[in-house]
Amino acid sequence: MEIIRSAETMAEWSRKVRSEGKSIGLVPTMGALHEGHISLINRARQENDLLVISIFVNPLQFSPGEDYDRYPRDEEGDLTITAKAGADAVFAPDTAGFAEGEVTVVSVQGMNKLLCGESRPTHFDGVTTVVAKLFNVVAPSRAYFGEKDFQQLVIIKKMAADLRIPVEVVGCPIIRESDGLAMSSRNRYLEGDERSRALSLRRGILEAQRMAKEGIRETISIENSVKRGLNEANLTIDYVSICHPDTLDKIDHLEGPARILVAAKVGKTRLIDNDKLEV
Ligand code: AMP
Repeated sequence: MEIIRSAETMAEWSRKVRSEGKSIGLVPTMGALHEGHISLINRARQENDLLVISIFVNPLQFSPGEDYDRYPRDEEGDLTITAKAGADAVFAPDTAGFAEGEVTVVSVQGMNKLLCGESRPTHFDGVTTVVAKLFNVVAPSRAYFGEKDFQQLVIIKKMAADLRIPVEVVGCPIIRESDGLAMSSRNRYLEGDERSRALSLRRGILEAQRMAKEGIRETISIENSVKRGLNEANLTIDYVSICHPDTLDKIDHLEGPARILVAAKVGKTRLIDNDKLEV
């Protein structure tokens, strides 16, 4: 497994293997790898000749006052995991070399201000700017993103389509702890009873799915019921929203495809979760 630090070396590596007619699967991550990341990595391994994992804690996607400085970093542990998973290359650029000095912003307008974008207005532009750069440098045939960050997945699909980037953006299911909590690098921030209170996100989503199955069609009733559960667990709600899975437009009345997305703070830790809503 090669560890590549510069964009030029990465691009050269990619050009060589693509010229040999081989496909590259890319899994972009911010490190602190867990089973959620590993599920993406395993899928990419199966579907491509070569596997590249990027590890980059992207400063552009954190706002001032967010957890950029204390975001978990464990490169040694991550490299053990990526080697075991059969990565051909890990692209781990220096911060200064990959996200400083540029003034170009890639912005998927509209969607970038919905949901998480309301409370984090610069977040998605930070994500798309760096992912566009990763797509240019790594030139993957396929890139794998988790449904855990559902809005991110939809936005990146739109970005790749709009910019005519020849990559297949593949969405992968959410991996959960045995009690249902969606795996996240941020779960390690949870202290004391925060871990059990965090379960109210998943409970709320399951309750929403039950209500939809029972025939409740007005999304406001479902959203309010989920909000009540989160309030009871003493979470600070950012949003509970039922949306169209392709456009993220709000849905008032359930009839076709729908997704429920939830974001809330448990203490200082902001968590997100989502799932399909079937009628
Ligand atoms: P991150 O390192 O948090 O930026 O995540 C890197 C990729 O892993 C993103 O595409 C995430 O959506 C995905 N991911 C993170 N947690 C999970 C999870 N629990 N299940 C599936 N995918 C995940």
